[in-house]
Amino acid sequence: MNILITGAPGSGKGTMSRRIMDTFGITHISSGDLFRQYIKEDTEIGALARHYIDQGLLVPDDVTIEIVKERILCFNEDQGILLDGFPRTSIQAHAFYEIEKKINRPIDVVINLVVDKELLIRRITGRRMCPECSTIYNIYLNPPRVPGVCDNEGRTLFQRPDDTLDALSVRLNQYDIHTEPMLEYYRKRGIVKDIDGSLGVEPVWKEIKELLEKIDGNPRD
Ligand code: ADP
Repeated sequence: MNILITGAPGSGKGTMSRRIMDTFGITHISSGDLFRQYIKEDTEIGALARHYIDQGLLVPDDVTIEIVKERILCFNEDQGILLDGFPRTSIQAHAFYEIEKKINRPIDVVINLVVDKELLIRRITGRRMCPECSTIYNIYLNPPRVPGVCDNEGRTLFQRPDDTLDALSVRLNQYDIHTEPMLEYYRKRGIVKDIDGSLGVEPVWKEIKELLEKIDGNPRD
């Protein structure tokens, strides 16, 4: 089963991706995580990506397509892939069409998490992450037991530089300009499933799990 998960920043892609991966044993490929890895390793691509990411802008298509393609082409397991945050523009969707054919892994479903802007802003500007285990908290909606400290690792939580209100406004704008048209491309293929991402984690997860079980034809606990 091959899945694409999409939605505006703060729609819950990361949280749901982790659950899909754990429950269905699917390999998670996140373009945002790939960029953060390149940045952490201090590579040239990392420096280029950081320039765009910190401002809330999308990384140029040619760079993005190249790094995701490289990751996908070295993938040789059977369980399927979960693409998170890629494709994010129409150009990336067209490029991915060629990759899909090459690896013979057509996307079965596009999960589109829909959340209104006001809630997205609260979710993103309140978001804090653990540098060790990547657990995500929210200072308004889901705070850690001790303010600023990870419940699991005891490490100091951090805020992503692109989670500030200024960068977020740019990201939301980029989403409207680039990602909505990308979704249209998949709507024409009839594989987009819109899911209300404003509900709590559990109801959203229930809906996604039921949907994927139907596609997978293999119910789980
Ligand atoms: P979010 O969906 O919350 O923006 P991500 O971790 O998916 O978070 O992405 C963080 C940033 O990485 C984006 O704002 C963008 O700058 C860059 N990025 C991630 N995926 C792509 C992509 N497919 N194309 C261009 N830029 C991307």
